[in-house]
Amino acid sequence: MPGSDDRHRATYQCPHCGADVSAREATCPQCGVDVALAAVLLERLALSAIPAEPGAPFLGDAMLSRFGEFLIGKGYITPVHLDDALNRQREMSARGARETLGQVLLEMQVMTREQLELASVEQVQDLQNALRQANAQLEQRVAERTQELQAAYQRLAELDQLKGNFINNISHELRTPLTKIKGFNMLLAAGDLGSLTEDQVQAVQTMGRGIGELERLVADLIQFATGARGEMVLHLAPTAVGDILAECARAAADKAKRGRVEMLTSAPDVLPQVMADGERIRWVLNQLMDNAVKYTPQDGSVTIGAAVVGDSVRVWVADTGQGIAAEKLPELFEPFHQLDGSTTRRQGGTGLGLALVKMIVEAHQSTIAVESEPGKGSRFWFDLKVAGG
Ligand code: ADP
Repeated sequence: MPGSDDRHRATYQCPHCGADVSAREATCPQCGVDVALAAVLLERLALSAIPAEPGAPFLGDAMLSRFGEFLIGKGYITPVHLDDALNRQREMSARGARETLGQVLLEMQVMTREQLELASVEQVQDLQNALRQANAQLEQRVAERTQELQAAYQRLAELDQLKGNFINNISHELRTPLTKIKGFNMLLAAGDLGSLTEDQVQAVQTMGRGIGELERLVADLIQFATGARGEMVLHLAPTAVGDILAECARAAADKAKRGRVEMLTSAPDVLPQVMADGERIRWVLNQLMDNAVKYTPQDGSVTIGAAVVGDSVRVWVADTGQGIAAEKLPELFEPFHQLDGSTTRRQGGTGLGLALVKMIVEAHQSTIAVESEPGKGSRFWFDLKVAGG
């Protein structure tokens, strides 16, 4: 049976107010409560919250046996004492009388009141120590996981940097041979390298179109790599955004006609100039129009529009096409990401267009917004500040 000096030297926390109490003290110096009694009362309170069902096993057993096991572990009682006490407690419970294990042990004279008080305090102390240890372990685990996450984040940042460098280098490397191919293609087309047959003219023209597509792709990649490094330079100037709208509508007209899609414009006759990089905004609107036509089936329509909203001009491109599912919207502006990523997808493209649109619009201190409904169509818009406004 314990009773070492160690135990008497220890301090514990009052179960009532949490103040430090010496193990020699029976009452808390701060709140004056009988500490052992407070512990027993806490136990009783926990028990009283458990509804008694006639005939049902005594639900407090689990908790009681924990205190009982503690008493056995500390050498206060033997397993036989515990069994006897629990049996007695069950009998009393069947008669409708409830007593804590401590009270039963007292009545059985297996333990003295002083031993019981000390044991209750010891148990509270043990539980507090276990809790402190569990907290320390938890903190240690959180610190380890945080370190692992930081390492993973660092690795991802490095990979992202590598990807950025790769795109940048490869696009510049592609440009040099492409310039040579384009130069010779132009010489061939002009007949400067000898006259061509009809078939050869056709072939050279097809090559010329392919070269144009490659040039646009390389330019997009370079633009993306520059933007990803945060080095996109804008040439801001007062810009007639209405003229850009009209140009973009004209540029998309052929493709729309081929797809039997109606092209509409919706803008007031006079629009104020906006502060923008005209070249880049033209690129953005062409890209949005290209997508709108691409994802709108025949007999649908695409509208490019603008209106003054506050101190800005709002520009939009709307279509009556296939639309985008709500859960896909967050991925929409991710680079190299196509919503239909399957190998059997119907439309070509790199998945770079909208990522670049976002970069350019954000470089203008604006935000690209989208609303869409599957089967009904999509609408993309952004605001540009009125020049001098
Ligand atoms: P892509 O080169 O594939 O057109 P984008 O970045 O321009 O790349 O577009 C990403 C994806 O967003 C497209 O693959 C398409 O699934 C979807 N998308 C873009 N615009 C529209 C639109 N107007 N209607 C429906 N889906 C669209």
